[in-house]
Amino acid sequence: MNKVLIIGAGGVSNVVVQKCASVPEVFGEIVLASRTVSKCDEIAERVKRKFNRTIKTEKLDADNVSETVALIRKHQPNLVINVALPYQDLNIMNACLETGVDYIDTANYEPLDTAKFEYKWQWDYQDKYKNANIMALLGSGFDPGTTNVFCAYAQKHLFDEIHTVDIVDCNGGDHGKAFATNFNPEINIREVTARGRYFEGGEWKSTDPLSVHQPFDFPGVGVREMYLMYHEEMESLAKNIKGVKRMRFWMTFGQEYLTHLRVLQNVGMTRIDEVEYNGQKIVPLQFLKTVLPDPGSLAENYTGKTSIGCVIEGLKDGQFKRVFIYNICDHAETYKEVEAQAVSYTTGVPAMIGAKMMLTKKWQKAGVYNMEEFDPDPFMDDLNKYGLPWQVVEWNSSVE
Ligand code: NDP
Repeated sequence: MNKVLIIGAGGVSNVVVQKCASVPEVFGEIVLASRTVSKCDEIAERVKRKFNRTIKTEKLDADNVSETVALIRKHQPNLVINVALPYQDLNIMNACLETGVDYIDTANYEPLDTAKFEYKWQWDYQDKYKNANIMALLGSGFDPGTTNVFCAYAQKHLFDEIHTVDIVDCNGGDHGKAFATNFNPEINIREVTARGRYFEGGEWKSTDPLSVHQPFDFPGVGVREMYLMYHEEMESLAKNIKGVKRMRFWMTFGQEYLTHLRVLQNVGMTRIDEVEYNGQKIVPLQFLKTVLPDPGSLAENYTGKTSIGCVIEGLKDGQFKRVFIYNICDHAETYKEVEAQAVSYTTGVPAMIGAKMMLTKKWQKAGVYNMEEFDPDPFMDDLNKYGLPWQVVEWNSSVE
């Protein structure tokens, strides 16, 4: 019987744990560990109430490798699902290496003191994981994650050559708060305030933060202004989607969000270096996180939908072709199902499916891999089965 250790007990974890609990034939036993054990207990109570399943909870500081190693040795899981924060990725990967256990996450490693997103640190584990005969699956959320699988599906079934990929991400929902982030505020604000970057003609080009934007008509939501940003999945897709000439990532933001963000930046509240306050050192962005709404708490009154997908252009049988592969997810429906908003849901469901791919050996080879390096078909089938149905349509308008 498979046993998984899930690390982290935030918004995404709440969804992953419930989704794993709903598939007992694959996830026979679940242990949930996080820094604040009361948050694990809350999720465990929800699982008991909804699925009549008991999961074990543990307190863990995953920055402490020997503590994580001891917990893995105690429970002996087949797989560790990391849904804590990107800062913990390498420490948890080290603990998995020491204990010989497979690893999966939803976001690439970031050092605490630099807002820098790249896979290099995790790809550096390739030989070590191969030699230990264990596997790491990186970025099994929606974006990164499902968007990578959409590209692999297009490469396998829809195109002979892929020329351009535009990943477009819209949260058309309304949580009724003047300013809040949909996932961990610290990670979210670091990502949004970074310089934009895209891949073209074999090289990376950069833009001022949020300076390039255009409207896009999102299915299920309508026309929204979307902004060019850097996003981590482009790094692996640029390597793995052969012959791609241009790849960009776009995300929508409302004017209210952008105005708040500009003010917070201008007054220094998004800084990630330490400042002295009342004889104590604090990081302004970490302090800001403590006063902003917890993303999980937005779920109850959230209305509207997310609409995320890939506009892909290329050639099929010598003819130009453009398709849009996307999913629409409704905040109110995800709340009804798992007491979570759609951003946590669209991340947590693919994390469960990625884990299922590994445990059922549909995706299994020693080393460190990104999502598009495996057969997309079983993952795409499971998206339809577990709550994230997708569509492929011919798309008439190009992304300028
Ligand atoms: P939350 O902040 O809601 O949850 C993070 C959890 O990790 C908290 O329970 C936190 O504990 C715990 N944690 C933090 N540090 C440690 C530590 N040192 N040891 C143990 N536990 C720790 O974040 P989200 O649930 O919103 O996001 C989870 C992950 O999902 C992030 O990495 C995020 O980047 C990623 N993500 C990926 C997306 C995708 O599409 N690929 C989209 C959205 C998110 P405590 O409660 O004590 O603070």
